Amino acid sequence: MTQVRTRFAPSPTGYLHVGGARTALFSWLFARHHGGAFVLRIEDTDLERSTAESVNAILEGMTWLGLEYDEGPFFQTRRFDRYQAVIDELMAKGLAYRCDCPRERLDALREEQMAKRLKPRYDGHCRGREVDPAKPHVIRFRNPDSGSVVVDDIIRGRVVFSNEELDDLVIRRSDGSPTYNLSVVVDDMDMGITHVIRGDDHLNNTPRQVNILRALGKEAPRYAHVPMILGDDGARLSKRHGAVSVIQYRDEGFLPEALLNYLVRLGWSHGDQEIFSLDEMIEYFDLAEVNKAASVFNTEKLRWLNQHYITHGDPARIAHLLSPHLGRLDIDPAQGPDLVEVVKAQQGRAATLVELAAISAFFYRDFEDYDPKAAKKHLRPVAREPLARARAALETLDDWTPEALHALVDGIAADLGVKMGKVAQPLRVAVVGRAASPGIDLTLWLVGREACLRRIDRALAHIDARAGDEG
Ligand code: GLU
Repeated sequence: MTQVRTRFAPSPTGYLHVGGARTALFSWLFARHHGGAFVLRIEDTDLERSTAESVNAILEGMTWLGLEYDEGPFFQTRRFDRYQAVIDELMAKGLAYRCDCPRERLDALREEQMAKRLKPRYDGHCRGREVDPAKPHVIRFRNPDSGSVVVDDIIRGRVVFSNEELDDLVIRRSDGSPTYNLSVVVDDMDMGITHVIRGDDHLNNTPRQVNILRALGKEAPRYAHVPMILGDDGARLSKRHGAVSVIQYRDEGFLPEALLNYLVRLGWSHGDQEIFSLDEMIEYFDLAEVNKAASVFNTEKLRWLNQHYITHGDPARIAHLLSPHLGRLDIDPAQGPDLVEVVKAQQGRAATLVELAAISAFFYRDFEDYDPKAAKKHLRPVAREPLARARAALETLDDWTPEALHALVDGIAADLGVKMGKVAQPLRVAVVGRAASPGIDLTLWLVGREACLRRIDRALAHIDARAGDEG
């Protein structure tokens, strides 16, 4: 059997958005599943809209997601000679011809057809004409007049296109550049692509591409057109639905494995399994199981998956990914407790790394304000005694370990004849500013002695000021 070869062929006119990333993922998985090759091709023939920044953004997004390619990136702009050679070949075979129909003629033709409720199409006016190659002209492909193109799409099923519906499309513009349909055909052919997996906005281009391939005496690859992604309002997913660029998800604190897991389930399923390791995705992925219908992007589900991967991820890796998010809060994690220990204590408590950074900042610097509700409830005069005792005991504790800290808090509660919470909660609000944090022993241990004492003093002052106000 021939080796499976797939490709991802983005046009570098923007970011790598989630729709493109999913198409890339499906192509990558299909290649990996079959032990085949995955090719990256940059379709930059639209010189006005293609940019180097966009190429970089696409490469950055692919790298972040871990969708490594086996060949490429190939750039279409470096292959113009090859496209020209194929155009020459089609010309020599009489399967392409020069056309110098002026814009006015084409416009008039279109209007006439529209008035008759016909599908606008080129009428083949120049098919038999001699057009001076020295004068401005385009080159058109001579599409078959009759018959049909049958596409057995792996996702969509059989789609039949009648050749009468297609016209002689332009394959070379008047400036000499090849058009999309021509360059795609040449590349898919030259790169030995066996499976073209792409967005279903290209379904209507498929019969044209198949006809050009046939004219060149080549077999068409298999096609799989992936349905689009919708926003929760039912419209095609776009910028106004929030983040759509892969890099933006990274910056918002999503893990690549969470986004990949989310994207693979967007339109594909394997029983009712939701969590897939990369190996499982590769093992189970099958194009035939991709849904025909469009899928709706659900940010809540992505957050749920992200929380899962943060909670169960290797703490050292999460710490590594968390570091830049702390940096954005002007925190240098080297100046404070071991970040891996902080991650272990906090892992289950945040849906994104941005949130994890926000709830971990107090380990590295004093918080600004108390959560008003927590302060009102726990920093009351009755908390003065337990806090003062805790301060004294913490100051002299020899063994600064979670175990010793636990025993210390326990001991104060026993001395005062109160439940542990009556000591731990005021202490927690004093040290972290709010009522939620990891266990009090871990919290105190990680915050460190000096900051604990400083913050308890602040809480005692807060209680006294409040007593003054209320008294
Ligand atoms: N360059 C095209 C796009 O970005 C994809 C072409 C293809 O996959 O055939 O939409």
